[in-house]
Amino acid sequence: MPIYDRDTETMPRAELEQLQVERLQATLRRVYRNVAFYRQRFDEQRIDLARIRSIDALRQIPLTTRHDLHASYPYDMFAVPLRDIVRIHSTSGTTGRPIGVGYTHNDIGHWTTLIARVLTGVDISDRDFVQIAFTNLATGTFGFHYGAERVGASVIPASISDLHEQIRIMRDYKTTALLSSPTYALRIARALQEMEIRPQELNLRCALLGGEPWSEALRAKIEEDLQIVAYDNYGLSEIMGPGVSAECECKDGLHVNEDHFLVEVIDPVTLEPRAMGEQGELVFTTLTKEGFPLIRYRTGDLAHLMPEPCRCGRTLMRMSRVSGRCDDLLIVNGNKFFPGRIEEILLATEGLGSRAELILERDARGDHLQIRTEVEQGFPLLDEIKNLERLKRQVSSALAAVLGLEARIVLVEHGTLTRAAGKRKLIVTDHRTQ
Ligand code: ZN
Repeated sequence: MPIYDRDTETMPRAELEQLQVERLQATLRRVYRNVAFYRQRFDEQRIDLARIRSIDALRQIPLTTRHDLHASYPYDMFAVPLRDIVRIHSTSGTTGRPIGVGYTHNDIGHWTTLIARVLTGVDISDRDFVQIAFTNLATGTFGFHYGAERVGASVIPASISDLHEQIRIMRDYKTTALLSSPTYALRIARALQEMEIRPQELNLRCALLGGEPWSEALRAKIEEDLQIVAYDNYGLSEIMGPGVSAECECKDGLHVNEDHFLVEVIDPVTLEPRAMGEQGELVFTTLTKEGFPLIRYRTGDLAHLMPEPCRCGRTLMRMSRVSGRCDDLLIVNGNKFFPGRIEEILLATEGLGSRAELILERDARGDHLQIRTEVEQGFPLLDEIKNLERLKRQVSSALAAVLGLEARIVLVEHGTLTRAAGKRKLIVTDHRTQ
């Protein structure tokens, strides 16, 4: 299996950890010197930076939150003079409040290298035609673009929303690799069906998908519908964008680029570290970033670490795919679950898509969950009440068996939820008074 940075990606753990500590100390000194926010924080907590000589010692330092980034918008968290900033990515995220992230020339160079690692890890090379298809000019688009050029691929920037145009480009230029969100890959698959184009008529062989949490069930569906191999990758614009971690060809966990990012997993409620392998909130410290370094940044993303060595030979620790957001956790009659689990159940049911609306209500008897979900186009069921009932029973018993949930299932025609849900596959409408 090809490895882009073999020396670093297969470095013995002890050596890697030594490199991390050295880079961590340099980063802490730099933010103390150049970022008022961190200087004030470290002084308030009486943190003696000279004593932070191990990764464990880092835990004395307070966490940085998204709120801190909003409060310092636009420039207060930058750690270099603005003349050294060569790129600014402004993101509004899901909350609609802006965050501005600056990159120096070196930051862009590292980003490019990390994306080259990610692409090489899934065997995308100078033989490939890479179609970068996000529906807007998201941060990820730029990282992927530079990294794909670095590995010598023929890059086709195609961040347009018109699906027919997207497919025309894919067919005419014989695209071999698709870089997009999982939702968009699924939309491409649906559009191909509508246009009566068989995936075999294309040259597409793989997709590198990310930018939102997605499930193994959705991966299976995309791979089946497009007749490709689909890989997961992870990043977030506050930290850098894509390139933080990615799957190798083993498709069993995402290797974290630990020489650039130090990863921790904490309990999102108590903020205490989680034991190795336990699920919790991902927290990252950047180790090389000059423009916008972050110390112990809470991502809000839930995953666990996998310390066992990987078959590919990389020594970089793996993380599981992100299973959801801390703020997405739903509690229904004391039963805790992430909406993504419901998506998995729906996808596993023949005839149903992944789009759904979860409606929560509460009365004296407790919480009531209603799931409205779409019957797939062309599935010959809507006129046959008996079959519809069977489909509902199938979902109900899976919900009870897997999640211990009771829910009222309402099946609606394909396309009904599309407008309401917009980009999101699942919408949660919670009418319960908190
Ligand atoms: Zn691997």
